[in-house]
Amino acid sequence: LYNQVQDLKGNIRVYCRVRPFKPGQSNTLSSVDHMDERTITILTHSKNGKEARKAFTFNKVFGPSVTQAEVFSDMQPLVRSVLDGYNVCIFAYGQTGSGKTHTMTGPKELTEEGLGVNYRALSDLFHISNQRKETISYDISVQMLEIYNEQVRDLLSADGVNKRLEIRNSSQNGINVPDANLVPVSLTSDVINLMSIGHKNRSVCSTALNDRSSRSHSCLTVHVQGRDLTSGNILRGSMHLVDLAGSERVDKSEVVGNRLKEAQHINKSLSALGDVISSLASRSSHVPYRNSKLTQLLQDSLGGQAKTLMFVHIAPEYEALGETISTLKFAERVATV
Ligand code: ADP
Ligand code: MG
Repeated sequence: LYNQVQDLKGNIRVYCRVRPFKPGQSNTLSSVDHMDERTITILTHSKNGKEARKAFTFNKVFGPSVTQAEVFSDMQPLVRSVLDGYNVCIFAYGQTGSGKTHTMTGPKELTEEGLGVNYRALSDLFHISNQRKETISYDISVQMLEIYNEQVRDLLSADGVNKRLEIRNSSQNGINVPDANLVPVSLTSDVINLMSIGHKNRSVCSTALNDRSSRSHSCLTVHVQGRDLTSGNILRGSMHLVDLAGSERVDKSEVVGNRLKEAQHINKSLSALGDVISSLASRSSHVPYRNSKLTQLLQDSLGGQAKTLMFVHIAPEYEALGETISTLKFAERVATV
C-alpha cells in the first residue's frame, strides 16, 4: 500500500513552487535570495535601502527549473493512496500569474512534458488500477466544478454553466453535488477531452478584460470506487484537484461594483480555507467548514484520515514582493513543519 510513507509525514503538506522569469526577463531583480530543498529566503529592502532576509520552511521547495514530471513524481504516492480508499485534496494557491494553472493543467500549448498534475494523476490512477485488475475492479469518474462569487457551477454541463448548483450532505454519499455531471473515465484521452470542455465553458464567461478563470476556483474531482473481486468489499476514495482564484489583494479604493464583490468573495473563501487547514494543523476541536462554499464542498476531504497537499506559488520578480510575502505568510499559517 502507498499510504505508509505518507502517514509518517502527517496529513497536511505544504510545497512551495517558484516559477521561472518570463522569457527575456532574466536580468530582472528577484525577491528570491536563496532556495534549498526545504527553505526559501526572501530579500527585502527597507525605505532607507537596508537589506533584510527572511526564511520560510516547507515540506519541499521546487525551484524554477524543476519539471512537471519531477513535481508529479514527488506526489505520486499521495495520488495513489486514492486507490486504497483515501480522500485527497490538492490545492494550487498564489497570485495571478504565479503558475497555479501551470502546475495543475500545464501551459496553454500542451505538450507531453508540459502536462500538469491533473492529467498525470488520472493517467497514473488508470495505470495502477489496470495493474490491479486481477484483484480489484475500479470505476473512476470525474466532475468539474467552478465556484464563482460563492456559487457552484458545473463546468461539464452541456447547456452552459449558468445553472447554480447546491451542495448536499447525504448519509449515503457524504458531501456531494448531485446535479453536476459525473462522467466515467478510463483513458487519458477521455480526461483531455473533458478538460477541454471544462475550459471552454469557463472561458465563455470571460471577456478580454475580464478573465474569470483567475477569479474563480476550479475543482476537478475524481471519484474512485474499487470492488475487491474475492471478498466483494467496496472501497471509495476521492481526489479534489483545485486551481484556486488568484490570492492578490485588490485595492478597495480602486475597484467598485462587480469587481469589488468578486474580490470580497475570493478573500472570504481563501481565508476560510486557511482557517480550516490551520485549525486542522493545530488539531483544534472546532473546524470552521461552514464559512465558504469551497470548504463546504471539500469538507469530507479535509481532516480526519484525508490527506492535503497545498502548493503555494511564487512569482520571482521583485515587483511581486508584497504578494510573495503575503503568500508565504498564508503558507506559514497552514504549515505544520
Ligand atoms: P496562474 O494560473 O497562477 O495565474 P499561470 O499558470 O497561468 O499562472 O502562469 C503564468 C505564466 O507563467 C504562464 O504563461 C505559464 O505557462 C508560465 N509558467 C508558470 N509556471 C511555470 C513553470 N514552472 N515553468 C515554466 N513556465 C511557467
Ligand atoms: Mg490560472
